[in-house]
Amino acid sequence: MKVYKIAVIPGDGIGKEVVPAAIEVLDRVAELDGNFQFEWTYFPWGCDYYLEHGEMMPIDGIETLKQYDQIFLGAVGMPELVPDHISLWGLLIKIRREMKQSINVRPAKLLAGLESPLKNPRNFDITVVRENSEGEYSDSGGRIHQGADEIAIQNAIFTRKGTERAMRYAFELAKNSRGSVTSATKSNGLTYSMPFWDEIFEEVRKDYPEITTSVNHIDALAAFFVMKPHEFDVIVASNLFGDILTDLGGAIMGSIGIAPAANLNIEGEYPSMFEPVHGSAPDIAGKGIANPIGQIWTGKMMLDFIGQQKAGTQVLTAIEKTLASGIKTGDIGGTSTLGEVKESILSYL
Ligand code: ATP
Ligand code: MG
Repeated sequence: MKVYKIAVIPGDGIGKEVVPAAIEVLDRVAELDGNFQFEWTYFPWGCDYYLEHGEMMPIDGIETLKQYDQIFLGAVGMPELVPDHISLWGLLIKIRREMKQSINVRPAKLLAGLESPLKNPRNFDITVVRENSEGEYSDSGGRIHQGADEIAIQNAIFTRKGTERAMRYAFELAKNSRGSVTSATKSNGLTYSMPFWDEIFEEVRKDYPEITTSVNHIDALAAFFVMKPHEFDVIVASNLFGDILTDLGGAIMGSIGIAPAANLNIEGEYPSMFEPVHGSAPDIAGKGIANPIGQIWTGKMMLDFIGQQKAGTQVLTAIEKTLASGIKTGDIGGTSTLGEVKESILSYL
């Protein structure tokens, strides 16, 4: 029996509600499979921990997490009591960076039974591979002068290694998808970083002659997402561009409450972290009405990543059957509770 040791950080807000639901689903699918099981270890880190201890996680938190195979995280944030820069940089971004989780994979797909705000999004099924460790989100920069002459500078850092790693990962994914990779660029406006990005894309692409490629400026790509979303398969994007595109992808799917994501350390040197796109949703926390599908689908991504694809497919099928039967939370136009959605997914499994 293969046993996976998973560190669980439910975090804040609805994270505390959707994570237990997803764990029930993952345990069920493992039990049905019979060849593997999960060993969950809970860490109560996040904003409550911060309010008590003055830090989001203990000093040796990263070392502790390194002892696990993977990390399963809900959401972090309590903006009314803890400023976002503390909660994000003290936990989420810290884990992503220190564990070198340099690839962020975010699929978006119009599941059966869901309504998109777009009228006719035929076969919307994309995966955004977002560079997760550098690019526009750097801590290099500063502010100079004061008053009317004040200047803020934010440097974007693109390394050949980081850029190439994200691109190669996108090409590998495309081999098992519909064989197409689109590069999100903006080399007509950003005159150092994006021409570099384009050059590397051109080089990497030569190693994958079987993959169809296209290059779009990010502004046009955002428009194409709305006008012809069915034309895209895998998209590779920088940190900022990928962030924006995946929120748009979530919206096209019908709700951010469905969108799954993974922060991957593809070298396998440290654990990867599986965390949905949505945040802690303080406006609906504690009411039992949050959509658990984003967290459960994120669990499916973890199953795929650890090599349990069969179980992963079963989870997604059970999600689709639940939606098609009309069992939906409020964010996607239904009246069901979190518990009802979870029970339905368990019963379809
Ligand atoms: P954070 O700073 O933690 O990212 P946020 O407010 O920026 O929080 P979300 O927490 O993702 O972003 O919430 C954005 C909106 O989407 C909120 O109105 C929230 O209620 C809704 N939402 C997010 N996740 C879900 C979910 N799982 N089910 C239902 N609604 C959700
Ligand atoms: Mg947010």
